[in-house]
Amino acid sequence: MQREGIALVLSAPSGAGKTTLVKRLLAEFPHFSYSVSCTTRAPRQGEVNGRDYIFLDRAAFESLRAENHFAEWAEVHGNLYGTPLAATRAMLRQGRDMIFDIDVQGAAQLKVTLEEARFVFILPPDMKELERRLRLRGLDDEDTIQRRLGNARREMQEARWYDALIVNDNLDVAYDALRAVYLAGTLAPGRNPHLVENMLAL
Ligand code: ADP
Ligand code: 5GP
Repeated sequence: MQREGIALVLSAPSGAGKTTLVKRLLAEFPHFSYSVSCTTRAPRQGEVNGRDYIFLDRAAFESLRAENHFAEWAEVHGNLYGTPLAATRAMLRQGRDMIFDIDVQGAAQLKVTLEEARFVFILPPDMKELERRLRLRGLDDEDTIQRRLGNARREMQEARWYDALIVNDNLDVAYDALRAVYLAGTLAPGRNPHLVENMLAL
């Protein structure tokens, strides 16, 4: 029997460095699949439909939601986001390790529907640095930055129930912690169902 893929669920307040860390993980472990979410948010410069997100208008999103298309969905910073259910399950069943970049509300739903997933929360070193990074990124207007900072404190309250907390101060240190969480996941007995059996049979 082939092992199921590992589901690594990452949440963080916007600007903490989650995208940067995910890119690094995908560069080191190219076999990872990224769970492409649907969103009603407008594409940012450089984002590609089908690669970064599936960009939908609100009516299209709501009609998919009514058809139970999503493993979880949430309204975040005024836009709807959701993880397609069938594609996700199929890939995990095929043994594909997957990264989910989702907010705390969606992660709480996945905790119920995908309980074997590993939940990682990425924290900024402090709130001032979070604000600095949001501005540095230069992708959001002032209103959006203020809304995201306002949401950050509420989101960080939820960090307590995650499996791992990673403070992204020094990027290399934070990345080492993230890859350690992933590698630890690959060592669980359930991930290697026939390892001992096969050894004893020889
Ligand atoms: P998120 O995906 O969590 O919103 P990003 O990965 O887009 O955050 O990072 C926000 C900004 O902070 C980017 O400009 C990124 O280059 C920068 N950044 C990420 N990690 C660090 C770090 N450890 N130290 C300094 N800057 C960082
Ligand atoms: P952004 O607009 O910056 O790409 O993402 C904003 C927030 O939405 C982030 O916290 C991100 O993790 C979250 N998000 C992205 N995709 C999904 C999803 O499919 N479901 C949920 N619940 N949140 C998502």
